[in-house]
Amino acid sequence: MSRVKQKNTAPEMAVRHLLSSLGYRYRLHAKELPGSPDIVLPRKQKSIFVHGCFWHYHKCHSSHVPTSRRKYWLSKLKRNRKRDTTNLTDLMNLGWSVLVVWECELQDIPKLKTKIECFLNK
Ligand SMILES: [Zn+2]
Repeated sequence: MSRVKQKNTAPEMAVRHLLSSLGYRYRLHAKELPGSPDIVLPRKQKSIFVHGCFWHYHKCHSSHVPTSRRKYWLSKLKRNRKRDTTNLTDLMNLGWSVLVVWECELQDIPKLKTKIECFLNK
């Protein structure tokens, strides 16, 4: 398994904490779903991915690709991002709503909280 799917990372724990504080019940690491979303709310058919900016090649991080073995990293990270897109599309085709929370968004918890609430109350 690639390091992309590390579980219980600090950003993931922070998002879970936020969900609990908002009173939501959720399940973790739904292996039966495409991309095994980090957090799922089955009754609402909503899922949340918490993505590390480096491994998932977030644009906030795209200028920080290591300079040594740059080609290797670029192709690896682009492959990760492509797989994410495929997983998201597959999930949505199955009728799931999907929210991606980026690691960098945890720098502004109040804003992230609003974003998550909007997503879950849609
Ligand atoms: Zn980011």
